[in-house]
Amino acid sequence: MTDIQDLTNGRWPDLLSHFCALTPEQLSDKHQPCPLCGGKDRYRFDDRDGSGSWFCNQCGGRDHMGGAGSGLDLLMRCNNWTFTEATARIRSYLNVPTPPPTAGAEAVWHYSDTFLVARFPGKNIRPSPGPATAGNSKHHQPLAHSSTSQISFLAQRIRSSL
Ligand SMILES: [Zn+2]
Repeated sequence: MTDIQDLTNGRWPDLLSHFCALTPEQLSDKHQPCPLCGGKDRYRFDDRDGSGSWFCNQCGGRDHMGGAGSGLDLLMRCNNWTFTEATARIRSYLNVPTPPPTAGAEAVWHYSDTFLVARFPGKNIRPSPGPATAGNSKHHQPLAHSSTSQISFLAQRIRSSL
């Protein structure tokens, strides 16, 4: 994973005004109401070393019980975004391509614009044994069918990480 911290260092005032509509006032190191939880003077934006850091003695900190947070933390919280969503939006805003989910794959099959299957090294793919069909050996599950279900499992994983 490309380090999102390197990408965003020094750019938090821009990112936070763009994504969270923070005002220049809210991006200054001055005690004031918190953009997340209000109040009167519980919040300030100190942007330490360009990290977008801020402080709220009501909702900052790891447990949101008061303390410091990072710019990414603030951006995720003001939009209710997950880490993955926030970093994807930041990359797109900064014009940094998101690494494809197939990075590191040893083989990729493109079935359509929205569906692909990739094989990653170290994954042990082999046809799973078909269901036991004792006494009915003529109708055992064909191997091809088993491997298809293994492969679509991988495809599912890739799609869910998009
Ligand atoms: Zn707060």
